[in-house]
This record gives sequence, structure tokens and C-alpha cells, in this order.
Amino acid sequence: MTTIHQQDFIDSIAAALQFISYYHPADYIHALAAAYQREESAAAKDAMAQILTNSRMCAQGHRPICQDTGIVAAFVRVGMDVRWGNATMGVADMVHEGVRRAYLDRDNVLRASVVSDPAGTRRNTGDNAPAVVHFDLVPGDKVEVRIAAKGGGSENKTRFAMLNPGDDVVEWVVNQLPGMGAGWCPPGMLGIGIGGTAEKAMLLAKESLMQPIDMHELKARGPQNRLEELRIEIHDKVNALGIGAQGLGGLTTVLDVKVLDYPTHAASKPIAMIPNCAATRHVHFELDGSGVAQFTPPRLEDYPAVHWQPAADARRVNLDGVTREDIAQWQPGETLLLSGRLLTGRDAAHKRITEMLARGEKLPHGVDFTGRFIYYVGPVDPVRDEVVGPAGPTTATRMDKFTGTLLAQTGLIGMIGKAERGKAAIEAIKQHGAVYLIAVGGAAYLVAQAIRSAKVVAFADLGMEAIYEFEVVDMPVTVAVDANGRSVHETGPAEWRSRISAMPLKAE
Ligand code: SF4
Repeated sequence: MTTIHQQDFIDSIAAALQFISYYHPADYIHALAAAYQREESAAAKDAMAQILTNSRMCAQGHRPICQDTGIVAAFVRVGMDVRWGNATMGVADMVHEGVRRAYLDRDNVLRASVVSDPAGTRRNTGDNAPAVVHFDLVPGDKVEVRIAAKGGGSENKTRFAMLNPGDDVVEWVVNQLPGMGAGWCPPGMLGIGIGGTAEKAMLLAKESLMQPIDMHELKARGPQNRLEELRIEIHDKVNALGIGAQGLGGLTTVLDVKVLDYPTHAASKPIAMIPNCAATRHVHFELDGSGVAQFTPPRLEDYPAVHWQPAADARRVNLDGVTREDIAQWQPGETLLLSGRLLTGRDAAHKRITEMLARGEKLPHGVDFTGRFIYYVGPVDPVRDEVVGPAGPTTATRMDKFTGTLLAQTGLIGMIGKAERGKAAIEAIKQHGAVYLIAVGGAAYLVAQAIRSAKVVAFADLGMEAIYEFEVVDMPVTVAVDANGRSVHETGPAEWRSRISAMPLKAE
């Protein structure tokens, strides 16, 4: 009989979450480095270089890989010969307490992203608790924990279907990908659960993402069962879609595909798919009663010698003097380096602004969008001498329904986010001669280096969703929708899909 002490368990959870906030798993780094070497699309290669450079910077600076530090999911296997010495909490509460300690750690404060009353007030809980915890009681005298911090952008692209028994799984998966867009920040991996019941398939999909990336090894040794064949087939067919890093078009969309299955009803074939993003964050530890879990960081030599620098020929833009005439010159796919002042805002701020406009109210002092750009971001709070913590873009598609109103009524001329825009937003951009730019999702610490000052100018009660004014110097972005409504997320994948289909060897 092993005794696990409550404090050791809580401290282990907190240490694990701090660890995964700034260390990518070594298998992800190796797989992305290999994909970077193979990549032929200049835009996708540049995005991968930013993600790899960001990854090393975060490991060295002990700051989060992404501004979205995720919602915590834990799979806890408790040995039936374990006793909990003098515990005053249930095990799920111990996980929640570990989350609080990790996310409020003053040396590396993480962003609190969890809201309660999800169908109503959506109030931020302030400490990122609670986690989502799954338990299994198993033979043995140890406690095993697999824990992840899952970004909202990738979780939002989850897909589920009750297929007919005769339906083809690969076909269903491949058909889902184009509709998922780039909001899940590829390149990443797909977790797929097949069988059981509806909720079992979802759990299998999530659990599968806790496995290390090993597609390269699997291909080298060859598949040994039906699930391994499926993994390879899905991996190759998804990459042949040409979606590429950040949806810009390229050879690699997924680094790996994981599949778990379970017996199901003869009439059913439930299938769930959950993507994991460029901020792949998970770790596995075991407690045997001897104390707090220890974690081994990736070695410096695990990181490839990729040091992203802005292209010498990138167009430099002064945000304090830019005009619609300037914007009209920018080409889809062009790299820009932005300097000057911009305002931030994401879901909650957009909702509040459009409600104020509908009531005919003036926007708060300091929120004047005339001739300005808005950056869709919810930054991490700063530590030490930072002006702001990691501050990468959030998914722009969620702001689509507000875009027409803001462009028509506020004088806004440009937006910065990540992923594609919907038809109505693109139409509004074209109509108003505006522009939409993207920064790289999963390179938040690198992007934040360009931010020289940050102050909250409105809606402070919204926490990380408040409106900030940032002053930036050489912030790297790419023109994603130009003033004529041309979108790189349409042209890039279409071009690379056709190129890949013409290649003698399929992309890996
Ligand atoms: S990499 Fe993209 S999807 Fe992942 S947590 Fe960051 S912003 Fe969200």
C-alpha cells in the first residue's frame, strides 16, 4: 500500500503545468524541425521558423509558448493499492488547486482563460480553475497522471459524427479538414476516437493526444495493425490537402495522427476528432509515494539551429500615419513589419463595442479607431521587466460577425489576427478598402518582443479581454486579405494542393 500525500500531488500538478507552459515536448520539436527542413512553401516555412524560434526562446526565458495557456485536462489513473494520507480534499479538487498554483505563479504567471456560467455571464474564474479531470481505477500502487493545457483555438475545431457502420472513416476525416480552417494553428496533430458511445469517442480522441509524436518511426517500421494503417493513410491524405502551416499553403498540416478505438454498438460508428495545435502541451508523470514528480526538460540540442529573422525586403509600415491609399498597395502573402500604435480587442470587447454603437453611445475615452488597426489578442500578464507577457493573435473568425459594423462605424482600417476570415467579413473588408493581417499563432513570446509599451485603455473589468493600446516596433505580420478581398487562406492551400498532387513523392 502506497501513501500519496495531498501536498505532493498538488505540487506535482502545479510543477507539470508550469513545465508544459514553456517546454514543448522534445518529440514535437524534432517533428516540426524535420517538417521545416522539408517545407517548400516560403510562407509556411517562415511560420514554422517563428514557431521553432519562439519555442527555444520560451524554454530559455521560462515564459509561455502561447498567450492562450489553455484549459487543463487531466487523465488520472489511481492504483487500487494507493491510500491518500490525511487528505482533506477530493482528488479532483487537488487537481484544481494545482491549477490555481501554477497559473498564479508570480515567476511565470499564466493567462487565466476559464470562464464560469458559460451560457450566461461568462465570468473569468481568475485562476484558470477548474480543470477537466478524468479518472480510472487500476490495479497497482501508483498514481499516474497525463495532463495537458489545451488551447481554445484548437479545441474549438473539434468534430464529431455518428457515422453509419459502412461509412469510411478516412473519407470523413479528410472532408472535415478544409472546413476547420487554420484557427487550430497547424502544424499540429489530430486525435481521433472511434467507437464506444458518443462521449467515449470524444474521450478517446482527447486521450490519444497525450501520446508522443512518432509518425516518422511508424513509417520507418511499417504499420502492424489496422489502426496504424489508418494513422498513416489519414496523415498522408490530410497533408496532401496542402493546407500547410497556419493555413498558408504548404507540405505539412499534421505532424502525426493518433487513433484510439473501442467496441461499439452494431448500429453505430461514433467518431470524434480533436486537433492539437502548434502549442502542443502535455506531460506524463507517476507518483509512487516518494515525493513530488520531477520533470526532464528538452536539451538545448533538441532545438534546431533555426533563428527567425524578418526578411530584409519586408515592407515597413508606420501605423501612426498609414492611409487607405497605402493599404491598397499591399499584396496577399506580403510580409510587413508594423511600427507605431494599435488597439487590441477580442470577443468580449467586440460584443461590448457593438452594443454601445447600437445604443448610439460614444466609445470610451482612448478608444478611437479612426485610421487605426485592431489586434485580436488577450495577452498574458507581464512579469519582471516585461511590458506585456506573450501576446500572439487569437482566431479572427470569431470576430467576423462584428467586422462589418466596426469598419462601417468606427473608422477602423485594418485588423490583425490569425486564421481565415468568413465570406461576410471579406466582403466588408473589400467594401471599406480595409485589410486583414495575420501574425503566427503559437509564436506569442516572439511576437511580444515587438511590443514596447502596453496600457489598458478601456474595459479593464474584462481582464485579458480588455482593450489595450500597444506600441510596437517591427511587429511581423503577413497580408492575409488585401483591400480587394483576395485571401491567402484560399489561394495558398489551393496552390499547394495542386502542387502536391503533381509531385512524384507525396509530402510526409
Ligand atoms: S497555438 Fe493557436 S490554437 Fe494553440 S493555444 Fe496558441 S493560439 Fe490557441
